[in-house]
Amino acid sequence: MTISFADRVAIVTGAGGGLGRAYALELARRGAKVVVNDLGGSRDGTGSSLSAAQAVVDEIVAAGGEAMANGASVTDAAAVEKMVAFVKERWGRIDILVNNAGILRDKTFVKMTIEDFRQVTDVHLMGSVICTKAVWEIMREQAYGRILMTTSSTGLYGNFGQANYGAAKLALVGLMKTLALEGAKYNVKVNTIAPLAATRMTEDLMPPELLAKMGPETVAPAAVYLVSDEAPTNAIINAGGGGFERAYVTLTRGIHVAAEDMSAETIAARFDEISDRTGEIVPDTGAAQGAVALGGQR
Ligand code: NAD
Repeated sequence: MTISFADRVAIVTGAGGGLGRAYALELARRGAKVVVNDLGGSRDGTGSSLSAAQAVVDEIVAAGGEAMANGASVTDAAAVEKMVAFVKERWGRIDILVNNAGILRDKTFVKMTIEDFRQVTDVHLMGSVICTKAVWEIMREQAYGRILMTTSSTGLYGNFGQANYGAAKLALVGLMKTLALEGAKYNVKVNTIAPLAATRMTEDLMPPELLAKMGPETVAPAAVYLVSDEAPTNAIINAGGGGFERAYVTLTRGIHVAAEDMSAETIAARFDEISDRTGEIVPDTGAAQGAVALGGQR
C-alpha cells in the first residue's frame, strides 16, 4: 500500500521547525499542497517572524512540492479564519489540519503564575479549537477531513513541572473524542499523536545520545498515517525513536452496589476490586461508560 496525498490540501500549524516541519515536508513529498503556518516566536511563545515558515516553504518548493507560508498565531481567530479563507480560495479545499503549534512555560505548580497557565492552555487547547473550528464546516461540506491533535506523555501520564502543559495536552484528547463522534457521519476523522522527538522543545531535557536517535522524522510516519485516507478515528498514537504504541483511556469492570451499600466505607473496603484491571474495557462514548456505571454491561 502506498499512502498518497495527491490533490490533498493540508494545514500544519507550528510547522516552521521541529515536528511540524517534518510533517509538512513528508506530506508535501507525498503530493499534498501544504500551508506552513508558524508564528515564529521563541519556545515560551514570545516574539514572531515569518522566516522559519518561509524557509520550510522554500525547502518544499526546492524539492518540487507546493506550499505557502502563513504567520497567523493559532490563538488569533480572525487571522486563522483569514488564513483558511485564503487557502480555500487559492487551492479550493482543505483536507487536513495538523494542530501542532505549541509553547512551554515549565515551572513547578507552586511557582507557576496563572498567566503561565493561561498562555500555555491558550496556544495548545484554544489554538487547536480555533483552527479546527475554522476548517470544520469546510470538511463537513466536502465530506472529507482529517484532523490531528497533538498531546504529550505529560498530558497522558504527567511530568514534573508541567501542570499547565499537561492540562492543555490532555484537554486535546477530550476534544478529539467528541469531534471524532461528531465528524464520523461526514468522513471527518480525528486522531491524536503523542510525539517524543529531539526539537528545541526537548533539546535540554534529554541526553544528546538519545536525542540523536529521536529526530522528528521518527514521529512523522505516525502523523502522516493518522491524516491519510486510511486513517482510523479516535486513536491516540505515541511515536518517537522507532517506537509506536497506542494509548487508551480504559475503564475497569468495577463494582455495582445497592443503595444501602453506597458509602465511603464500601469504596474503601472494595477499592482494590474497583481498581482491578481484569477485563477492563475502552468505552466508545461517554454514554457507553454511563451504561457500565448503571450496571448495564455487567
Ligand atoms: P517546536 O518548538 O520546535 O515547535 C513548535 C512550533 O510552534 C514552533 O515553530 C513555534 O514557533 C510554533 N508556535 C508556537 N506558538 C504558536 C502560535 N501561537 N501560532 C502558531 N505557531 C506557534 O517544538 P516541537 O517539539 O516540534 O513541538 C511540536 C508539538 O509537539 C507541540 O504541540 C508540542 O507540545 C508537541 N510535543 C512535542 C514533544 C517532543 O518530544 N518534541 C513531546 C510531546 C509533545
